[in-house]
Amino acid sequence: MVRRVVSLLSLLLLFLPTLAVATAEPPPPPPPPPKKPQNYAWVMDVCVRHDCFKTGCASLRDSNTGNVTTTAGACVSSCADGGTSLNGTSPREFDAALRVLRWDCASDCKYRCMTAVERARRREGLEPKKYYGKWPFARVLGTQEIVSAVASVANGGAHAWRLPTLTRAAKRRMRFAALWLGFTLVNINAWIWSVLFHCRELPFTHYMDYLGVNIVFFYALYAAFVRAFEPSARRAAALAVAFVAAAVAHVRHVNPPRQRYRYEYNMRAMFALIGAFWVVMLWWAFRGFRFRSRGGGGGGGGGGGGRGRGRHPGRRWLLAFGATFHVAALGEVFDYPPAYHLVDSHAVWHCVTPGCIWFWYLFVKEDLKVAQTATAKAKKNN
Ligand SMILES: [Zn+2]
Repeated sequence: MVRRVVSLLSLLLLFLPTLAVATAEPPPPPPPPPKKPQNYAWVMDVCVRHDCFKTGCASLRDSNTGNVTTTAGACVSSCADGGTSLNGTSPREFDAALRVLRWDCASDCKYRCMTAVERARRREGLEPKKYYGKWPFARVLGTQEIVSAVASVANGGAHAWRLPTLTRAAKRRMRFAALWLGFTLVNINAWIWSVLFHCRELPFTHYMDYLGVNIVFFYALYAAFVRAFEPSARRAAALAVAFVAAAVAHVRHVNPPRQRYRYEYNMRAMFALIGAFWVVMLWWAFRGFRFRSRGGGGGGGGGGGGRGRGRHPGRRWLLAFGATFHVAALGEVFDYPPAYHLVDSHAVWHCVTPGCIWFWYLFVKEDLKVAQTATAKAKKNN
């Protein structure tokens, strides 16, 4: 009997926990995973991930530097409304500067992604990286590269400053005044597009900036030939037609429809043009300057009698312009990240060049002076 009771108690003790569990309340089901809110933050997060995966941020995802999702919720609220993307339009929250400079949701998202990743990189003590082919500049009043943009205004202004003087000289039909006036105008055009390009890089501003530089370089070489060899008006016109045709062919070649811009080819062609410009101009200024009488040209060193070739009185200004402009351009070789997120090597170059342009106009002033003196002497002799 006792043994039966002991066995029963043992069985009871063995199954008691099971019975207790069987009689207890069933545990509540695990909470469902939080539903992703289909709002702007989620849509922008996806947008950032998508954009970054295709472009500069993608490589950073593997470098333990930060998570691009840090931008989630940081984008403007009306970039997406109830899951409907508003990319391509300017959201309500954009200020006037962002609207004028054609920022849209996608580009704003890219900018925010870039700054977020850069903050993460800084925290990790890492060097800045390029995003979408550009250094991470701080956006100021909607402007992508504020220092380069302001410096481009200064460069354009340095040319525009001399515009009234050259226009007056051209109207008075001073020799070569129209030639140098043309040089001033193509430069002003190029710097205007440089301002717009540095304010906001869009396919159109990018195209026009490169086109402006192409026009300057083709015109510079044409002007060098005309000034150095003083062809007749008919020959100068024929030369102009040839240069325009060459420039059009070049621009069409580097911008093939539905293909990538041929940067390398364009760079090589521009180096060739500017190299030829300096060979012609420096030979002319230091040896080939045509003067009508000793002293009349203000420095003719060669030849005898009343005519010959020698040195131009403005040659030192020309040399100073070329040396400073191109030495400053060499700084671009050191392609360092922007200091304070504002000043990179390209910006430094643009900041230096207004001073170089001042040297150029000192040369032009001397050149107009000698051309005028030569014309007056020729008239007197006739
Ligand atoms: Zn520039």
